[in-house]
Amino acid sequence: MLAGLFMRMCQPNKVWYGRNSLARLRALGQHKFLVVTSPSQQACGNADLAVGELRKNGAEVNMYIMPHGEADMQATRAITAALDSSSPEAVVALGGGAVIDAAKMARALRENPDFNPVPNKMLEFPMTSARTKLVAIPTTAGSGAEVSVASVINDPATRRKLIFLCEDWLPDTAILDGRLLDSQPVDICGRSGLDVLAHGVEAYVSLRADLFHRMLAAATVRETLRLLPKALEGDRAARQNMMLLAYLAGLVQSNCSTGLAHALAHAAGSVWGLRHGTATGILVTAVIRFNATKCQAIYNQLACETGFDSINELCAAIEHLRCAAGYPSTLRQGLGSSPAEVDSVASIASQDPSLKTNPCKLDLSDIEHVLREVL
Ligand SMILES: [Zn+2]
Repeated sequence: MLAGLFMRMCQPNKVWYGRNSLARLRALGQHKFLVVTSPSQQACGNADLAVGELRKNGAEVNMYIMPHGEADMQATRAITAALDSSSPEAVVALGGGAVIDAAKMARALRENPDFNPVPNKMLEFPMTSARTKLVAIPTTAGSGAEVSVASVINDPATRRKLIFLCEDWLPDTAILDGRLLDSQPVDICGRSGLDVLAHGVEAYVSLRADLFHRMLAAATVRETLRLLPKALEGDRAARQNMMLLAYLAGLVQSNCSTGLAHALAHAAGSVWGLRHGTATGILVTAVIRFNATKCQAIYNQLACETGFDSINELCAAIEHLRCAAGYPSTLRQGLGSSPAEVDSVASIASQDPSLKTNPCKLDLSDIEHVLREVL
């Protein structure tokens, strides 16, 4: 770190974690809530668990079920309308990254309906002190949206993932309750866990990372490699700890950003509809191997700090885990068909803000090369 250069680490004011920590919903101090969730969380009963905790203290609770799929501006504005009509003191976002990111944006739009958010730059948008509180409750151990300053919104018209960044949009409270993972299918557990690995790896080598970030990032990579196999077997303690690792990996990636695997995953998600964790899981080792040809030292350091003798050993461990989880190793397997528009995906990725913190400079031919490595 340069002398005199201030750094900062942003995260929610309070983080409750541990099995049954959902009970903290009873003690938030507000009395009127809007629970925003997804159809799958309603179907598996997790949404009812949260509503039940809120109502134990006599709170008034309304629920908004977001349509299945990625968050887009239409879904976001629908949540804003639900906030306007129910006027809650707090919004509880219970779901994966799409639900939490949409709730962040919806709350900001409610504070200032004329606000026209601009993607890919840190926005100055202070919330008022009387703002609606935001409680983020992840139901996957993966995205880290509960601790991220980013809100990733899909734009079907331009086929881009728009990344809005604002420190004031951070949730006020995060609750990490492993009980919400009890009914999680194995494929979602694996996909989310591979994204945690990708966050840890890309944050560790980020151009913005310092000792603080790298200590946390190395720990998330090492512990995810150890615990994800147990989580995939349904081990409840491992699943709870994966929620902590997802939080820590989200904390570092939110504060020092990511790199090429995420730039490509954002483009692959918007053009092909490829799930984010599937994309980062497929891409992460291809990106490590390619970047390491240009900046080997930082990857040697990552391998060493995560307990491996070489970059190849680290990649082999990630690939072994991906294979053991029955996970795709190519885009063709991930999509179920041969990917079209490879050039377009590479071109969109070349404009992604995540590339700014990739540990080495890349041109379009480099990006295409990595993409073709995993076709
Ligand atoms: Zn990710």
